[in-house]
Amino acid sequence: MKVEKNKVVTMTYTLHLNDEQGEVIQKVDESKPFVQMFGVGALLPAFENNLTGLEEGDTFGFALAAEEGYGDPSDEAILKLEKNIFEVEDVVDTEMVAVGKMITMQDNNGNPIDGKVLAVEDDSVIMDFNHPLAGESLYFSGSILNVRDASEEELSHGHVHGAGGHHH
Ligand code: ZN
Repeated sequence: MKVEKNKVVTMTYTLHLNDEQGEVIQKVDESKPFVQMFGVGALLPAFENNLTGLEEGDTFGFALAAEEGYGDPSDEAILKLEKNIFEVEDVVDTEMVAVGKMITMQDNNGNPIDGKVLAVEDDSVIMDFNHPLAGESLYFSGSILNVRDASEEELSHGHVHGAGGHHH
């Protein structure tokens, strides 16, 4: 069975910066493989394209340019926020709200989004909400462990159930 839309794919992968000799950012091995449904918008489109057509047992190695990955960093993702929104019971935790720290906040839709503190001023905090891998070219290598059809229920939910997926 080939990797394509509406298949559930179990895989290992290693993510490097730039090329296969580049720094390892993430490594997912057989002990806790990555399980994902294809064609539902959960993955980078270029990542799916490079794996489409592979079968169980196949290995892969491919590069993604920054624009196929997480895009280029944008000035619009750097925001100046009122310092008081970081207050907990009228106090800002200066260990948490400090230059270089990552803070999980909520976007306009209430979804969690990670930002990095760039500067702390008297009344404001400058945060960078660019993806940490924005502007980076990426290299993925790994192997396809399993390909199966998504169940009707998984298709209707848009996510994988069972091992490596949702339990509900
Ligand atoms: Zn579900």
